[in-house]
Amino acid sequence: MVNDKRKVALVGTGMVGMSYAYSLLNQNVCDELALIDLDKKRAEGEAMDLNHGLAFSGSSMKIYAGEYSDCHDADIVVICAGVAQRPGETRLALLKRNAKVFRSIVEPVTASGFDGIFLVATNPADIMTRITYMLSGFNPRKVLGSGTALDTARLRYLLGGYLRVDPRNVHAYVIGEHGDSEFVPWSQAQVATKSILELCEENPEIDKNRLKEIESEVRGAAYKIIEAKNATYYGIGMALTRITRAILGDENSVLTVSAMLRGEYGQSDVFCGVPCIINKNGVQRVLKLSLSQEESGKLEESCKVLRDCYEELAREDPSQSPL
Ligand code: NAD
Repeated sequence: MVNDKRKVALVGTGMVGMSYAYSLLNQNVCDELALIDLDKKRAEGEAMDLNHGLAFSGSSMKIYAGEYSDCHDADIVVICAGVAQRPGETRLALLKRNAKVFRSIVEPVTASGFDGIFLVATNPADIMTRITYMLSGFNPRKVLGSGTALDTARLRYLLGGYLRVDPRNVHAYVIGEHGDSEFVPWSQAQVATKSILELCEENPEIDKNRLKEIESEVRGAAYKIIEAKNATYYGIGMALTRITRAILGDENSVLTVSAMLRGEYGQSDVFCGVPCIINKNGVQRVLKLSLSQEESGKLEESCKVLRDCYEELAREDPSQSPL
């Protein structure tokens, strides 16, 4: 840790950022929280609102609206800032605007002398994490994204409900892009001590088609929530809190964050969601799942989607390129 108090600087105090902040406060995860936003007034209002709840919490967290200079002694800088898609705007155009937003954030954060861990939630999360890595020049193990942490939690919730087992005893992962090409490597999925595929063989009442349906429900969850309430924020706020706790507590926990692949799974030059050991160093290690041939093909395809997208961004607008 950078100092004896656990300090988080949060950039972007919108719905996702503040759901995260609210969850940090309620779970008493850090001692100091600086809220930074382009809209300074909003950050000030959010700090006031959270501070007024302190008397009801088990925490004595110091919360304030800050500046980029406040990042200098933070353990973690979490980025949830971004611009929303305009009507008719292409994915690439949105990405270009968010790349510009990140330049205006990552440069002052690093200029503050910050030497901790970057954690990125802004979408497209894997690409924005890679951009953060490029702009910061940090060791890639100190730059991670929320990746498929939330997707994995959604999978465990649905599988737990179907198999009637506590989701915390479901050891299954969503890996790859946080997006349409993500997938579940079923060969590696376990419920408590048993492989799910083995369980299916032994119990004909477990319908393999339902497992496939669950996988596509996970993939489509964000679309469904956005259709119903315009945005998703509580789940990601709690996923970010879980990752933060693993870092600040030096837990060596296994979480599916977006990490740079450097030869693992035969992939490199790409950030994507894979199970990793998370501790005070950020990504201590990328874990290698023993994927089947079909699953390896899916991961390769997902990495290609991400690599192509990043390269397209760099090609389209070299002046904005973080390369
Ligand atoms: P929001 O519009 O509510 O908040 C965005 C905030 O960013 C605003 O407060 C805005 O003022 C701030 N901002 C914009 N430009 C800035 C800049 N240059 N510097 C500092 N602050 C700036 O959006 P939201 O609902 O909180 O979503 C934030 C991001 O999180 C989006 O990209 C969204 O897609 C993403 N998200 C990710 C996941 C995930 O699983 N990774 C899940 C849900 C949402």
